[in-house]
Amino acid sequence: MTILALLSPNETALRTEADAVGLPGIFIDQLIANLYETMYFHNALGLAASQIGILQKIAVMDVDNVKLTLINPKIIEKSDEMVDSEEGCLSCPDLLVTIPRHKEITILNYDINGKDETIKLTGQAAITAQHEINHLEGILITYKISSIKKHRYVRRVKKAGR
Ligand SMILES: [Zn+2]
Repeated sequence: MTILALLSPNETALRTEADAVGLPGIFIDQLIANLYETMYFHNALGLAASQIGILQKIAVMDVDNVKLTLINPKIIEKSDEMVDSEEGCLSCPDLLVTIPRHKEITILNYDINGKDETIKLTGQAAITAQHEINHLEGILITYKISSIKKHRYVRRVKKAGR
């Protein structure tokens, strides 16, 4: 297995919606294994393929005993109840943003054979899944900060050469 290189924060691929995976996905087993390896290496709760520059709707997560490979995931139900979640992201170093998330979600997901499954998530697992699904839509946690703050952050990241 391989630890994959993360895109630097200003790469446009991070702000681009990924393509749906054509299923069955013969070549994605290795990618998924590498995503897990990379996620564990960085002690992250989740990782989307977009973050390593592969614009396919694949993400992995492992949080609160919920280990889940997301393939073409779609939120089909969400609770009205929201929770404020303070989130960081491997793609946005040194940044924490408070983001309102649905407390519970139900997603339609696929396995690598293209078989669909419906998964209900709650708590931190629901939050992480929403964060990863955002990645697959090209949305970063920076969307929740003001444009002045965002501008400053982009400048800071540029200065740091990342
Ligand atoms: Zn992230």
